[in-house]
Amino acid sequence: MSEPTSDIAIARRASKRPITEIAARLAIPAEAVIPYGRDKAKIDVGFLRGLADRPSGRLILVTAINPTPAGEGKTTTTVGLGDGLNAIGKRAAICLREPSLGPCFGQKGGAAGGGHAQVVPMEDINLHFTGDFHAITTAHNLLAAMIDNHLHWGNALGLDPRRIVWRRVVDMNDRALRDIVQSLGGPANGLPRESGFDITVASEIMAIVCLAADLEDLEARLGRIVVGYRPDKSRVYARDLKADGAMAVLLKDAMLPNLVQTLENNPAFVHGGPFANIAHGCNSVVATRAALRLADYVVTEAGFGADLGAEKFFDIKCRQAGLTPDATVIVATVRALKMNGGVAKADLGREDVAAVARGAVNLQRHIGNCQSFGVPVIVAINHFGTDTDAEIAAVRAAAEEAGVEAVLCRHWAQGSAGILELAEKVAALADGGTARFKPIYADETSLLGKIETVVKDIYHGVAVTAEPAVLRELESFERDGYGHLPVCMAKTQYSFSTDPGRLGAPSDHVVHVRQVRLAAGAGYVVAICGDILTMPGLPRHPAAEAIRLNEEGLVEGLF
Ligand code: ADP
Ligand code: MG
Repeated sequence: MSEPTSDIAIARRASKRPITEIAARLAIPAEAVIPYGRDKAKIDVGFLRGLADRPSGRLILVTAINPTPAGEGKTTTTVGLGDGLNAIGKRAAICLREPSLGPCFGQKGGAAGGGHAQVVPMEDINLHFTGDFHAITTAHNLLAAMIDNHLHWGNALGLDPRRIVWRRVVDMNDRALRDIVQSLGGPANGLPRESGFDITVASEIMAIVCLAADLEDLEARLGRIVVGYRPDKSRVYARDLKADGAMAVLLKDAMLPNLVQTLENNPAFVHGGPFANIAHGCNSVVATRAALRLADYVVTEAGFGADLGAEKFFDIKCRQAGLTPDATVIVATVRALKMNGGVAKADLGREDVAAVARGAVNLQRHIGNCQSFGVPVIVAINHFGTDTDAEIAAVRAAAEEAGVEAVLCRHWAQGSAGILELAEKVAALADGGTARFKPIYADETSLLGKIETVVKDIYHGVAVTAEPAVLRELESFERDGYGHLPVCMAKTQYSFSTDPGRLGAPSDHVVHVRQVRLAAGAGYVVAICGDILTMPGLPRHPAAEAIRLNEEGLVEGLF
């Protein structure tokens, strides 16, 4: 048989082990494993509670330079590195986000890694998996239903129907639902008002599930969700509607981490999947904490480039959960550096060493940025078939100029055998004890000051601008006791600036904050810079057109 090339074809040939066997590799006893079929499981809450006093393994973040629209292989490298660490005899676990159905049926495809570095069962992970996203969608929409019901039955809380900020969600790219008028058809159908839908991964509940320490914390955070405002602008919370308890009930299983395996039968937790723009873009705290107590090394991914993903991983997730990362891996690809060096998407396959060298300023800036969090950095060059030796040498030279090592990795083509050198070096880096992690701003810094710190120190922009109304809103958050929260920056993933077309390493840009939102349950203030869609649309020819069941009833067309 010829070598399969598509991700799904490779995934289908995996020789999977029963999930209890994978759990046993982390010394998780069979009674703590809640199987979902033969190759997926959740881990029991009682067992998780018992892990709290164990020593923590080393935490390794995988992040990236500013990407091309196809993605540069963070997930693929996270999986490959986990396999590589296991292959050199380390006890390593992987922590990933759960994929959203939106990109699966839209443009980008699945998010379970690629080539010979994937987590399986790939189809299940990319589709309904263990139902977490359905639970989150349902909990979100329960709160929406309770808001409208409250208005219907007299609105005792005095909500201003024009100032309700809690919308509905569905896990689908569906632009038709972005802005709607609801409750048409007469008084029996409630109070007509404008509203809309977001994609499930943009739900604050997704972020809450991913940041909550346990079920108690989950319920408290759900209660703190702001659903809307009274005419005097005072906030109405989910707990005022008594919705927190029922939402927590719907979410109790979704809070348990999911265990699957890589193509090489190594353990991977795939749990939670918040957006990386209006949310923080990392897998759940519950899964990361559990993995750190079960493995000696934990490799995890943060969404988008390091300006967004790594910054939020450090400043939001690590800050809230008290995690102290030991090493950062920055994934770089020749083609994304070429793009940052000004090459058009259609020409990325052609050798252009000068463009790689020009684009390398992007890599160098991310290196410096990540180091500013006090965590040592190494670069993984994710090898593509079209890369030439001279181009790879240019990436190495740029990394060395910035004072860090770059290691060529062929895990996509070869699995762990292609990433052993990186595994050795990452283990040594993480064990080296050089990490002195600290978030980039203090809790006490003002909200605007936090935004300015990120813009100046991470985006290397010159200034932050905002309308007076936005500044007033930030002041009101501070007055009401939310000033200590971190900020969650929402901007394009393609550039350090807010203009997706400005690649490389711009340093004269002004960042305009268009809007701010209090996510009191998630525990951050979102600063929206530029146009951010919380309900994407489908492209002219969505991936869904090519997805079908074949004669054997197997899924075709997922990638
Ligand atoms: P990210 O997590 O950064 O968005 P992914 O790891 O999901 O990126 O990879 C995006 C796509 O690129 C996947 O379809 C994957 O199979 C493909 N890919 C990743 N690395 C390589 C590589 N070295 N060669 C070819 N394709 C790759
Ligand atoms: Mg990814």
